Amino acid sequence: MSLLVAQVIVDVAAYPVDRPFDYAVPEEWHNLIECGSRVKVPFGPRNVLAFVVALKDHTEVPLNKLKPISQILDIEPVLNNEMLALAQWLKDQTICYEIDALQAMLPSALRAKYEKIVHLNTDIQALDSKLQSIFRKSEKVNFMQFQRENALHELKEAIKQGHVMIENSVKQQGKVKEVRKVCIASDEALLIELEETLSNRAAKQKQLIAWMRQHAGEVLTPSDICSAVGVTMAVLHAVIERGAAHFIKEEVYRDPFTKAVQKTDFLQLTDEQAHALSKIKRAMDNKHPETFLLHGITGSGKTEVYLQAIQHTLQEGKESIVLVPEISLTPQMTERFRSRFGELVAVMHSGLSVGEKYDEWRKIQQGKVKVVVGARSAIFAPFENVGLVILDEEHESTYKQEDSPRYHARDVAIWRSKFHHCPVILGSATPSLESFARAKKKRYTLLTLNQRAKNQALPEVRIVDMRAELKGGNRSMFSEALIESIRIRLEKQEQIVLFLNRRGYSSFVLCRDCGTVVECPNCDISLTYHRSTEKIKCHYCGYEEFVPQTCPQCQSEHIRFFGTGTQKVEEELNKLFPEVRVLRMDVDTTKQKGAHELILDAFGNGEADILLGTQMIAKGLDFPNITLVGVLSADTSLHLPDYRAAERTFQLLTQVSGRAGRHEKPGEVVVQTYTPEHYAIELSKEQLYEPFYEREMLTRHGAGYPPYFYLALVQVSHEDVMMAAEYAAKAAEYLRSNLPFSVSIIGPTTASISRLQNRYRYQCLIKYKIEPNLIPVLLQLIKLYRSDWIKKGIMLTIDLDPSMI
Ligand code: ADP
Ligand code: ZN
Ligand code: ZN
Repeated sequence: MSLLVAQVIVDVAAYPVDRPFDYAVPEEWHNLIECGSRVKVPFGPRNVLAFVVALKDHTEVPLNKLKPISQILDIEPVLNNEMLALAQWLKDQTICYEIDALQAMLPSALRAKYEKIVHLNTDIQALDSKLQSIFRKSEKVNFMQFQRENALHELKEAIKQGHVMIENSVKQQGKVKEVRKVCIASDEALLIELEETLSNRAAKQKQLIAWMRQHAGEVLTPSDICSAVGVTMAVLHAVIERGAAHFIKEEVYRDPFTKAVQKTDFLQLTDEQAHALSKIKRAMDNKHPETFLLHGITGSGKTEVYLQAIQHTLQEGKESIVLVPEISLTPQMTERFRSRFGELVAVMHSGLSVGEKYDEWRKIQQGKVKVVVGARSAIFAPFENVGLVILDEEHESTYKQEDSPRYHARDVAIWRSKFHHCPVILGSATPSLESFARAKKKRYTLLTLNQRAKNQALPEVRIVDMRAELKGGNRSMFSEALIESIRIRLEKQEQIVLFLNRRGYSSFVLCRDCGTVVECPNCDISLTYHRSTEKIKCHYCGYEEFVPQTCPQCQSEHIRFFGTGTQKVEEELNKLFPEVRVLRMDVDTTKQKGAHELILDAFGNGEADILLGTQMIAKGLDFPNITLVGVLSADTSLHLPDYRAAERTFQLLTQVSGRAGRHEKPGEVVVQTYTPEHYAIELSKEQLYEPFYEREMLTRHGAGYPPYFYLALVQVSHEDVMMAAEYAAKAAEYLRSNLPFSVSIIGPTTASISRLQNRYRYQCLIKYKIEPNLIPVLLQLIKLYRSDWIKKGIMLTIDLDPSMI
């Protein structure tokens, strides 16, 4: 008997050892288990889920200690070799458990509890005798039965032949949906014979079979057949009993697209676009894993370049992955891809149900689609033959995952491009400083679009000094200039977008006598007021309570909400313009599935004059009738404790302004601010990216921030504040004594949110240039933590390249 050993990664949350374990593959499963299959293995007292990451014929484990795999979960592997290698790389790059990396690549439906059901897809006679006996009682059989009856080899063969189909019946809704169809016999002689043997009393059946002769071998729905021939279901059943046809089940994918789209044609490219495309095509043709930074002002037609580059990959028979930030996954954006490539496009975003996501993933895995448009995690789309990866709005912070594995989609994109020898396009009107610096150093190839595609002028931007407004006695949140501009638009029946910088702007409840702000009892964060429910909520842990009638501190009754939320702005608008029709788009109005789309549709149809919203509306909006964009307060994001505050503000203002006047009508932008002289605000006025870049690089250089230095963030938390402080100090001490002086370690300090979900949080910030010792030292620290600190209730996380510090 030959020995076959599987190396597996077990799924045991918080199990402190992160390495593969060896298990014996029982003889009868030798040809069934593959790398990337999931199995169950005995681990301690339990049977746990595990991923097979390697197969080998030897082991260091003494044979009498080597336990066998107890169960097979996948007869076809769920992860291919590329994904297994990528998981390994993610583990090393982001310092995470390999199991977290493996799980991150699968749709959530495959992470939930589910049952595997095998469906008979064809006539039972087509199966071999073992399978026939299993399917005799029912057309749906639990997968476990095949294992029990030792019929897995036969099953695998039947799957290959398409005789049976596996359904994962998820406890939630991740089910494969099916319809029953009728497959008409393809043997015409048989149909003729049946027709002739039928007596004339069965005229309807005869008529149906005659019709079937014209449609031999076709697969149709029962209702289509009945209505085409004008017979009842009973007649169809009778004919099927005679053997003229048989029922089959066909998998249908839940369609996340709710409406049909019109096909669009390729546009004649501008010279700039054509130049960019030719460079990208050359990299594709040369199978060169080149990273392009497509820097194009808003409205310059970056998307058209993506579309034509994708067309080129399709012609080569290859697949494309397109990432867009979650918030810009608007129906408008996805439609642009669907209207070009139709059914070849899969869409993945958080608005889909678990089942819909699973369906999209299956379409990708089965090669039924060639293009995926999705948010961050779509970078793991299991395509086998990738020809192009695109990150639109590459500067967006949502491309960085905040939980383990803390990967950046840009890094994964570049890794996959090397694996597949294909180019990557990073597109933005306001590239991240890191990417632009790399382009300047020629590590990325810079492609520039300086002209708007339809040659429209950039909108005129007016910056309004709110300090002067206040001095002049205007205490409202609208400046005279903005009110005037709104009035003009309302008269002309043009549309307006008002943008509220949400962060720092959410309303909190404040006591006007003692200044107390009501905070979350679990987190050191003020609670946010929600008018619709009269409640105050914590946006971090979900805690909520009714608005207190009196101040919890001084019992004063002068306690009320403060600050400006979108609801407050809406009220103010209604006071200023009683007739105005406002649509609000924020986290509250878009909770329901499809709400986003409904609001945008309504606005596009002219059902409202003003679209009022948060970050959500900054991206992707493209309506011809929008001629005014107002930014209520530009500086709220400027004063955040974040080294990227200026960059984020510049990006945001540029994006928002880009929403106005994209078509024939010229656009105007009004930006209200308390710091009009700040360079991020001044330079955004004319989208002067490069001057902004130069200026901001000086600041970063002076302060020692990226892209001049790399950052790593070590966070330590504990329910007890003393423990958290003590172990954070230990971590800092460990880092200082093991890393060279060239690496600076700042802290420990309290984290910017000093308590979250009842845990106190401390952090150390590591700044380094190129430090080969860093990862090994961090791994040692992790080892210390996993072997000892964890038992004391400490939680330690490491984030390389944190997006917020
Ligand atoms: P970006 O993504 O750079 O902001 P878009 O791709 O949204 O720009 O293009 C802006 C507008 O210009 C869109 O309405 C698009 O259809 C149009 N457009 C793009 N390229 C061309 C072209 N070559 N000819 C005509 N119109 C174009
Ligand atoms: Zn008070
Ligand atoms: Zn909380």
